Amino acid sequence: MKITPKITPIYQTSVFKFDDLNELEQYFGEPGSRYLYSRNGNPNSDELAEAVNKLEGGAGAVATGSGMAAIFAAILACCQAGDHVLCAADIYGGSSALLNAELSRMGITASYVPFEQLYELAEFVQPTTRLLLAETISNPLLRVADLRRLAAECHRHGLKLVVDNTFASPVITQPLALGADIVLHSVTKYISGHSDVTAGVVVAADEEVVARLRQIGIFYGLTLSPMESWLAVRGLKTLRLRMREHSRNALIVAQFLEQHPKVRQVNYPGLDAHPQHALAAEQGAGQFGGMMSFLLDDDAEVVNAFMQRSRRFPFAPSLAGVDSSLSYPLGTSHRSLTTEQQQQLGITVGLVRLSVGIEPIEELLADLAQALG
Ligand SMILES: *Cc1c(COP(=O)(O)O)cnc(C)c1O
Repeated sequence: MKITPKITPIYQTSVFKFDDLNELEQYFGEPGSRYLYSRNGNPNSDELAEAVNKLEGGAGAVATGSGMAAIFAAILACCQAGDHVLCAADIYGGSSALLNAELSRMGITASYVPFEQLYELAEFVQPTTRLLLAETISNPLLRVADLRRLAAECHRHGLKLVVDNTFASPVITQPLALGADIVLHSVTKYISGHSDVTAGVVVAADEEVVARLRQIGIFYGLTLSPMESWLAVRGLKTLRLRMREHSRNALIVAQFLEQHPKVRQVNYPGLDAHPQHALAAEQGAGQFGGMMSFLLDDDAEVVNAFMQRSRRFPFAPSLAGVDSSLSYPLGTSHRSLTTEQQQQLGITVGLVRLSVGIEPIEELLADLAQALG
């Protein structure tokens, strides 16, 4: 019987069999010809890595057990004890926590560059600085980095540019084409898209860096399981369609919030008033994604009332699923920052982050109207 499934089956196995020593020699002699052990490589995780690699235009990719594992792998691929990294001050809270609480213990130090100074790194660079970590679209203020300019500035100082492209997805921006050296994703978010997977992926422009990433994935055990990989591949197939709907809905929601008397400010790159609107339009080929944040009065009671009344935007501290949700940066992703850092970044009591899903837009607008009312 010949079985030829259209879709890659789930190779739910931790290990693969060999008939004899010749096959074992083939495994080592012809890399990529066979599988040995799923932590080292599995058809499902390779399918995911290859699909994202293709979208990002890289030399190769590694699927990881989470977005955090992807960030960790990217930094370890470029740094060792004694090295220093620069990090955009507007960064995912988990990234700064990893740098401050763990990588510091391994002798890798970090300093933070305010958004306004990202293109003038001279005063931040040390002789041991190896890379800059930044996000295409920052969380939670949705500030957009000019990646072409940032890559040029990094390379001028001999640094690698590592881009967390989670908020944009490769549909909206492909950082490697703009000069970045490494791009990574929390696959948990748009790439999977259905809030049912925890995964990550890291892609490099250079073959040698890809080889480093593979080794780090295997030795530190950061690689992804077959089932999670399979789910992520399934989600990825609709990424282009989903991003179109997320972007369309989010622009309408942002325009609605911008006009609402209870809303003091809306941060969405698709709005004309956004400080990097023109850049976002150019870099994102006219799509701006589904993420935004907005400012209510800086009063916890006002925020609570909105959260309690909202039906279509449940509080769920993640993002990028097909179903809408909201998050509260001060209490979740940016909780570990000092009050001063929170104030500096503009993460205040009234700031609410929305992840706009792909539901019928009238339902989302009606829900927001009643929740704010
Ligand atoms: C969620 C997220 C991460 C971390 O990813 P996990 O899959 O939760 O480990 C990293 N960067 C950004 C921008 C994120 O939103």
